[in-house]
Amino acid sequence: MSDEFLNVQLLISGKWRDAEGGRTLPVQDPATGEEIGKVAHASKADLAQAAEGAAKGFDAWRALTAWDRFVIMRKAADLLRERAQSIGRIMSREQGKPLEQAILEIKGAAGVIDYFGEEGRRLNDVLIPPRVRHVEQRVLHRPVGVVAAFTPWNFPINQIARKLGAALGAGCAVIVKAPEDTPASPAELLRAFLDAGVPEGAVSLVYGDPAEISEYLIAHQVVRKISFTGSTPVGKHLASLAGAQMKPVTMELGGHAPVIVCADADLDVAAERLSAAKFRNAGQVCIAPTRFLLEKSIAPAFVEKFQARMNSLKIGRGVDDGVTLGPLVNPRRVKALQELVEDARAKGGKIWQAETPLPNEGCFFPPTLVLDPNLSMRVMQEEPFGPLAIVSEFTDLADAVKEANRLPYGLAAYAYTRNERTQRLLGEAVEAGMVAINHHGIGVPEVPFGGIKDSGYGTEGGPEALRAHTILKLVSSQHV
Ligand code: NAD
Repeated sequence: MSDEFLNVQLLISGKWRDAEGGRTLPVQDPATGEEIGKVAHASKADLAQAAEGAAKGFDAWRALTAWDRFVIMRKAADLLRERAQSIGRIMSREQGKPLEQAILEIKGAAGVIDYFGEEGRRLNDVLIPPRVRHVEQRVLHRPVGVVAAFTPWNFPINQIARKLGAALGAGCAVIVKAPEDTPASPAELLRAFLDAGVPEGAVSLVYGDPAEISEYLIAHQVVRKISFTGSTPVGKHLASLAGAQMKPVTMELGGHAPVIVCADADLDVAAERLSAAKFRNAGQVCIAPTRFLLEKSIAPAFVEKFQARMNSLKIGRGVDDGVTLGPLVNPRRVKALQELVEDARAKGGKIWQAETPLPNEGCFFPPTLVLDPNLSMRVMQEEPFGPLAIVSEFTDLADAVKEANRLPYGLAAYAYTRNERTQRLLGEAVEAGMVAINHHGIGVPEVPFGGIKDSGYGTEGGPEALRAHTILKLVSSQHV
């Protein structure tokens, strides 16, 4: 990619175009603060046209056979794989993450699309044996209709791929409201679908004022399902708007993941894997480990190993060679992290930060540990969503489980232990939608991905994610 950044348009009824009236928002490189492009800001008239186009797109997409839909989705996934390098540079530039992570995200998204395209071929209807002779009871799975999908900036492509994949695989059309902070890489994802041959209007893309768009689309009669990834307060608001319209929702919200490290864990493996999971995407990950609960006897040794890993991170622009920690996505996030750290310091926490120097400009934040935390600190209640971990000690495993379950969040949780009995106990006792032990591989498309409690409901992985985009219909006929 040259240094010139393309302006990002809306995709409505299969055509790329500017917003009516030509309104735009600036897009910045978070590593430098430089304006690198503009994104179209949809008006209500644009949204009305997107809804109308999506209604037609839905009719065309659902009319295809599941096999034909699968072939188009597989082609889109192949195009993404082919273009991963160039799209990765765009993503790294607008979002800040290291190029290698951006490319991995894009290839991962292609795998998600493959999975849902294939799963759509297995959306089998069922015959239920009747109680009365000559009755045939057919249970049909049919696409729910047009889906409005709202996605955040932390994984600009993968967050959309999960929603788009599940919806398209089930035969739905989708209007994506993608993040204004990182608009260009999502546009490339949608371009791959257009180039693969999806009918006009089956996928649409809008940007603008998130609150205005969500209010408009959720209430629109054409839209039949809502899917959102983002913060818990916004998720609760959107779920209530959808509830008032009797529309089903999938909500993938915030987390504050605990990780329990037991004395029998392999500490080298734990430090290596936890630092990779904590600092991936500068910690802007809803499943990032955050509350480290360390068994007292191994706590100093683990912290030393973890700090060595933190000191070895190479901080800089995501597109530069060898960088492993990029900037946060915008100045708002830097301020939020600074406030959490200052609050923890003022309330008696010990703050340790990696020694690696930060670039002089841009939205960088140092890898940070909060040691000796207490419950009065905001960071013990609020998701930091950045390169920050909180370290506490325990002597009784039951206390660690109690702390793990203390918050209203319940997305991901982790543990490191070699003891199989402890592994099983923690798998049952920790309240979270996903519990991973001795590794972090919970994002593969064929397994459930989602939270409980304030972390939301519904899943974005496995066959259930596809089924959540269908309606169940009974057709019972008696042959007389
Ligand atoms: P935010 O709550 O303002 O926005 C989060 C996302 O929701 C953004 O993509 C935004 O465009 C969207 N959004 C906000 N209001 C909306 C509305 N009324 N209708 C539709 N969409 C709306 O927060 P932020 O400053 O962008 O990010 C900070 C927090 O968001 C983080 O601390 C984290 O908790 C959460 N977040 C979570 C995820 C995730 O993967 N679950 C991703 C990004 C952000």
